[in-house]
Amino acid sequence: MRYSGFKVFTEGLFGNKGWTPAWRDPAPKAAYDAIIIGGGGHGLSTAYYLAKNHGLRNIAVLEKGYLGSGNIGRNTTIVRANYFLPGNSEFYSHSMKLWEGLEGELNYNVMHSQRGLINLFHSDGQRDAFARRGNMMINQGDDAILLDREGVRDLLPYLDFENTRFPIYGGLLHPRGGTARHDAVAWGYARGADQLGVDLIQNCEVTGIDVENGKVVGVQTTRGAIKSAKVGIVVAGRSSQVAAMAGMRLPIESHILQAFVTEGLKPVIDHVISFGMGHFYISQSDKGGLVFGGDLDFYASYASRGNLPMVEHVMEAGMTLVPMIGRAKVLRSWGGIMDMTPDGSPIIDKTAVDGLFIDCGWNYGGFKAVPASGWCMAHLMATGQSHDVARRFRLDRFRAGQILDEEGTGSQHNLH
Ligand SMILES: Cc1cc2nc3c(=O)[nH]c(=O)nc-3n(C[C@H](O)[C@H](O)[C@H](O)COP(=O)(O)OP(=O)(O)OC[C@H]3O[C@@H](n4cnc5c(N)ncnc54)[C@H](O)[C@@H]3O)c2cc1C
Repeated sequence: MRYSGFKVFTEGLFGNKGWTPAWRDPAPKAAYDAIIIGGGGHGLSTAYYLAKNHGLRNIAVLEKGYLGSGNIGRNTTIVRANYFLPGNSEFYSHSMKLWEGLEGELNYNVMHSQRGLINLFHSDGQRDAFARRGNMMINQGDDAILLDREGVRDLLPYLDFENTRFPIYGGLLHPRGGTARHDAVAWGYARGADQLGVDLIQNCEVTGIDVENGKVVGVQTTRGAIKSAKVGIVVAGRSSQVAAMAGMRLPIESHILQAFVTEGLKPVIDHVISFGMGHFYISQSDKGGLVFGGDLDFYASYASRGNLPMVEHVMEAGMTLVPMIGRAKVLRSWGGIMDMTPDGSPIIDKTAVDGLFIDCGWNYGGFKAVPASGWCMAHLMATGQSHDVARRFRLDRFRAGQILDEEGTGSQHNLH
């Protein structure tokens, strides 16, 4: 079924009885040409592009819960391409281009909204760093505008400009940055993959990875054994656990990141605002809720909920920057399990086991990567070669000492 405004109109006229399920609910087959473990954003986009770009049809996505039950449905929906250094910058630039055509590509409204992202700065040194970053973004083909204090005040008059600890000196505006509806992205890719013949198998937890003579031959699941000579591990926060099934120890720690949403309000915040000094960022959803978050809960955990000290910290930072939000009621908070790498950058690579691939290390920024990650992981699984824009996301870079500088702050992040 193709979705369109006309279809919505005619279905409305006839009692909405003609809609069909967006994807099938198949039983697992005994064997597939490729298996993707994990039905999050990255797993679904990988399956979609394997089928769409590389012509594979006999593919299964195995998801232990329901599609979109992981971080793809838990994030704060920010989409941006504002990286400073090679490695991440070309990858996220590619992802942004895919975002810009995504709704047409999937025939699905993912509510992509390029409302502009503003990173605030609070000192002369930070202004210099953001000016350099903005120039690099422009060189990469993306967009950036350096705003002074009055430029920020014009766009965001409700911020506290009198804050003495972190006075606002200006901001770096990334006009093509913005948001998209997170679970719609999962649903859009799921529907697209299903239409290309991919079996999306929910409530199917992978419990073992079968390896014979250094080659992957299939997986064990709660719904039986399934054979395949190509398996992709795409399980975000659970990467270390699933990789351990193939005897691998990853350079990853799993940490919790929390987020919050208020009651629905009339439109008031029409950009995404990032307050790095206070570890706080905020935007407003199309339903009206103020969506905001801050830093990680800095302890390793697999619990999908966070602790009170970080709640307090985020609320303090929010009140410091946007005092008016103190009048809004927080409706919900939640947490997601982040797959944190030492350099804050992802891994899309082969493993030492023939036919076993891994896509992980998305840290707190993997939502915006969903299109490019699937594109590059599919390229790797289909051709055996890394895609150009993901060639630095190697698993062995930590051993080889070639780490990526995600923040653009030098090799020792803690010193900046
Ligand atoms: C609070 C919060 C805010 C965030 N904000 C942003 C943001 O604004 N912008 C941004 O770019 N990123 C953001 N992120 C990060 C982003 O959400 C993640 O990096 C990204 O969603 C991870 O990839 P995924 O969608 O594939 O993960 P997931 O949706 O977690 O998918 C992994 C799937 O694997 C499944 N799985 C695990 N183990 C198994 C198994 N053994 N067998 C079968 N299936 C298994 C899980 O059930 C899950 O569905 C945020 C994350 C959180 C938690």
